Amino acid sequence: HKLPIRFTSPRFSLPSFSIRAMTSHSHIVGYPRIGPKRELKFALESFWEGKSKAEDLKQVGADIRTSIWKQMAEVGIKFIPSNTFSYYDHVLDTTAMLGAVPPRYGWNGGEVGFDIYFSMARGNDSVPAMEMTKWFDTNYHYIVPELGPDIKFSYASHKAVEEYKEAKALGIDTVPVLIGPLSYILLSKAAKDVDKSFSLLSLIEKIVPVYKEVVAELKAAGATWIQFDEPSLVMDLDTLQLQTFTKAYSELESSFSGLNVLIETYFADVPIQTYKALTSLKSVAGFGFDLVRGTRTLNLLKSGFPPDKYLFAGVVDGRNVWANDLAASLCILQVLEGIVGKENVVVSTSCSLLHSAVDLVNETKLDKEIKSWLAFAAQKVVEVNALAKALVGQKDQAFFASNATSHASRRSSPRVKNESVQKAVAALKDSDHRRATSVSARLAAQQKKLNLPILPTTTIGSFPQTPELRKLRHVYKAKKINEYDYVNAMKEEIKKIIKLQEEIGIDVLVHGEPERNDMVEYFGEQLSGFAFSVNGWVQSYGSRCVKPPIIYGDVSRLRAMTVFTSSTAQSMTRRPMKGMLTGPVTILNWSFLRNDQERHETCYQIALAIKDEVEDLERAGISIIQIDEAALREGLPLRKSEQPFYLEWAVQSFRITNCGVKDTTQIHTHMCYSNFNDIINAIINMDADVITIENSRSDEKLLSVFQEGVKYEAGIGPGVYDIHSPRVPSTEEIADRINKMLAVLDCKVLWVNPDCGLKTRKYSEVESALRNMVAAAKLIRTKL
Ligand code: GLN
Ligand code: ZN
Repeated sequence: HKLPIRFTSPRFSLPSFSIRAMTSHSHIVGYPRIGPKRELKFALESFWEGKSKAEDLKQVGADIRTSIWKQMAEVGIKFIPSNTFSYYDHVLDTTAMLGAVPPRYGWNGGEVGFDIYFSMARGNDSVPAMEMTKWFDTNYHYIVPELGPDIKFSYASHKAVEEYKEAKALGIDTVPVLIGPLSYILLSKAAKDVDKSFSLLSLIEKIVPVYKEVVAELKAAGATWIQFDEPSLVMDLDTLQLQTFTKAYSELESSFSGLNVLIETYFADVPIQTYKALTSLKSVAGFGFDLVRGTRTLNLLKSGFPPDKYLFAGVVDGRNVWANDLAASLCILQVLEGIVGKENVVVSTSCSLLHSAVDLVNETKLDKEIKSWLAFAAQKVVEVNALAKALVGQKDQAFFASNATSHASRRSSPRVKNESVQKAVAALKDSDHRRATSVSARLAAQQKKLNLPILPTTTIGSFPQTPELRKLRHVYKAKKINEYDYVNAMKEEIKKIIKLQEEIGIDVLVHGEPERNDMVEYFGEQLSGFAFSVNGWVQSYGSRCVKPPIIYGDVSRLRAMTVFTSSTAQSMTRRPMKGMLTGPVTILNWSFLRNDQERHETCYQIALAIKDEVEDLERAGISIIQIDEAALREGLPLRKSEQPFYLEWAVQSFRITNCGVKDTTQIHTHMCYSNFNDIINAIINMDADVITIENSRSDEKLLSVFQEGVKYEAGIGPGVYDIHSPRVPSTEEIADRINKMLAVLDCKVLWVNPDCGLKTRKYSEVESALRNMVAAAKLIRTKL
């Protein structure tokens, strides 16, 4: 199945590398790799299930790459990226390139193939996967390199060169993209059991020679530009890190002759010291900056920019789906021309388009007016090109005019503004929104009512999403069955899930979330101010994609959203049933945000809607309510100076949702995939009664915070097994983990639960794993 290749722009211009003046300079940092209809996802999953061969998967990959390159060439983009495609993750690709395969995967040298590659990504029958964590402040997850002092780097994946040649064979000269050595090291962690004195930074010297080999081979293949992504440069780097950066590039320099090198940064502006170090690199031809999130980038550039270097100006937002305000961008670009010289400005995206949706063309169901306000990756490519053309006097007047019209319609649309919501948010300012009683007193009151055993067992919410369930929701949405039949089928499913939990012996039950396609979409669909795409998928990790709702207007709750389901579920069991909600910060962080309003304003609006739901659930007799804040940490600004403000409004938003409930109502929250140690105070400040938290894939890092004596009085359930792997953990293994937790946590606060929801697993795996989990909890109870 070949991907359709579209002609997005009526004018056909071949990319030219030779003439500097009068040709437009346009550049794309990176592009989504899943395909416009998630072709890569389906190819990967079919390969993993043994339903297709490696060749089939490779063919789908090649088709996706070809289609992207041709599309950009046809639009007229001058600097087209290659090696931004990946079968799983670009950091893992770099690990493969550097031959940094952890010993446990039994790699014997040679080119890293699919077997080793996917074992690192997903684990296999005998070895667990490598750790996965968030890519900066996005919802993309990368595989964390594990490096030790004895590691021997070697050039073990020639993917960058192969992709460059592949594009070249199509007649397209691309810019190969590599993760730069500093960012690679800073994104890594020290391997297990490595001496504490070991410094990851010291490995730079060892990886630079491999980078040199890669650069040399790219040059030999004909590459004239190479892009090094160094997003870590936007972080607060210390002196040693910065020195290491300068040293690495001065060592790499010798391989740069005859080549143009671009160092690309994104997700924020770079701190001033870093900016100075970066822009004083003599052998580099261009520097890329984020002008959307990097609010101070313009000032940095005004403070000085080296003559005769290219400025890759990221003015088209790679993290959003809104049409660029072309007139505004053009003004900024003209200011930039004034600073760095007319010929040195290259129009670019703020970061890789990986974080946007793929192509608006496939959105057939979106409201026409809202659609006119949007631009997905394919449209952003066209915007970048239009801006670059306009800069050299070839402004497409019609394109700019229709863009201006859509911006005017968005600014004045009545569907964007809801005055009563704005009033309610303004009125929030007068209180701290905190429950009146202390958490220990509340827990005592709750225990009286709930009478739970010590080490209570629970799950995070979702149960397996079977093909039958998906089909059921699908036919209901397509109005092929009526509401009555749908509700009955859902009730049957919930009954089954409850029976299973009772039979396994779980203490606090969930209804399993069978009615939810996605924890954010489900709520967004019932709130006003949200729009939904059909194919607006964004890669989260590997083959997993999310389809973030688009928040376009003020948010309000139209009616109760979960009360019927939760109370129906509660009526089927005597055990406590958790009401299950997604928290405001997570709804916010997992949606495409408005860019016409501060994000905390939007968050407060969502908090008020969820608050109404929490109070309705309580009134309906639900005594445990879980408000998931899976993505709380995700929204944390990258720079320390901006973090306190975020944490203040995010934590406050969470408290707004539940500050009005009785002491006897137990509020849970859940968070996944994070390192929380640095924000533990904010987490305590959320004032939840119980928190369940991802843990098993991060080497119990989480627990160290309690060793350090943080005063934590609420209930806590660090996940006892990894739900992202099909592996079933044994009772002993789980018991072992619980014991480790008991070494640092009081048994009275400890809960026993998996890492996260079970929706991606199969029933066979879930049943055995939960049985072992309950057995482990029971075993330890007898010993306490
Ligand atoms: N309640 C959700 C579930 O179990 C939580 C998912 C999540 O944390 N990502 O699916
Ligand atoms: Zn989770």
